[in-house]
Amino acid sequence: MRLWAAPDHTRVVFDSSGPMGYELLTLHNPERLVIDVPRASVATALTRGQTVGGLVKGVRTAQYSKGVLRIVLDLEQPAKPSSFTLKPGGRYGHRLVIDLYNANPAQKTKDAADLPAKPAATATTKPAVQSRVKKALSSEELPARDLVIAIDAGHGGEDTGAIGRNGTYEKDVVLSIARRLYALVKKTPGMHPVMIRQGDYYIGLRQRIDKARENKADLFISIHADSFHDRRVQGSSVFVLSNRGASSEMARWLAEKENASDLAGGVSLDDKDHLLAEVLLDLSQNATIEASITVAGNMLGELQRVGKAHKSTVQQAGFVVLKSPDIPSVLVETAFISNPSEERKLRESRHQEALATAMLRGINTYFANHPPPGTRLAARKYTIQRGDTLGVIAQQYQVSLSTLKDFNDLKSDVLRVGQTLRIPPPGG
Ligand SMILES: [Zn+2]
Repeated sequence: MRLWAAPDHTRVVFDSSGPMGYELLTLHNPERLVIDVPRASVATALTRGQTVGGLVKGVRTAQYSKGVLRIVLDLEQPAKPSSFTLKPGGRYGHRLVIDLYNANPAQKTKDAADLPAKPAATATTKPAVQSRVKKALSSEELPARDLVIAIDAGHGGEDTGAIGRNGTYEKDVVLSIARRLYALVKKTPGMHPVMIRQGDYYIGLRQRIDKARENKADLFISIHADSFHDRRVQGSSVFVLSNRGASSEMARWLAEKENASDLAGGVSLDDKDHLLAEVLLDLSQNATIEASITVAGNMLGELQRVGKAHKSTVQQAGFVVLKSPDIPSVLVETAFISNPSEERKLRESRHQEALATAMLRGINTYFANHPPPGTRLAARKYTIQRGDTLGVIAQQYQVSLSTLKDFNDLKSDVLRVGQTLRIPPPGG
């Protein structure tokens, strides 16, 4: 038995030696879910792995005379079960998957609480003058909004993604990189990050898009690590959606593999009702793809400074997760987890940080040239107050001193109180 706690549901997976029939029964006071499996017995202690968490607080089993195995899940609160079985696939055999949805959606599960919707206040350890600049920055430029960057760590939960020779799981390293990018974006004035997956659980590919759209994301970045049967293959690549077929054989092969996630994660792709919508959305999608190609190119350029590029041009393939009609979306294959040296680097915090920084630089460059109207980035100004120095302002807005001076045609570092500076985009 394996268990994955997501914010809105808890997934329980049972491995079995063959296809299994089963019956579910929900019991109240106390809340329980009973699973009866005919012609079955427990082969390995169920409690060997993680079996409690999320909505499940305990597991018991009993064997009935007619060969029926009864599994009882003790629940924290009322839950609606949804279940299905999976045929062997990837590294797994036959499985029974039970998703327990919080019957009261307002109440989130304990160990998967959402991150705060808005970035927390500036760290209190900063010098007073810096936080004053930051405060002025947020009050002066209202009602301009923050750019919203949706960060999607690929795979999760039952879906491990690719596995390196030394046992590194793609789902784990990409979550670490995503968290680092989240922290970097959060520190960037005028930007607000949204984590699509916040822990080790699976989210369907369509739901990832939905979450980005609910948060009105300006950009969607899906982070992955590639694998290939030839261990020598290495380097990073950046993908955008293609409507007209993959740009290379490898791209097609990879897209099939990443899209298979939904099957590994145990969610069937219900594309039927999306089909018509997709045809209608084709036009806006084309414009979005153009924007995606530009931001992907900016990101690829930065990633090439961190390590090798597998493909030195932006690749296009039919990734489901990139199919937002209106949000520029890119998929970054950070490195090949199948290459032993890149697998090692993917685990190093310094390399993870370098990858996240490269992605942020790409984001900065893109939005510097294409600031969406109404965002703080589109109109950044700062009015000089007593005690301000160019250095502090430059640091707070994450621009270099020389760029700030050039941008405002300043010949010296002398500032006048009340003087207004135009602020170049971050990273400039
Ligand atoms: Zn992947």
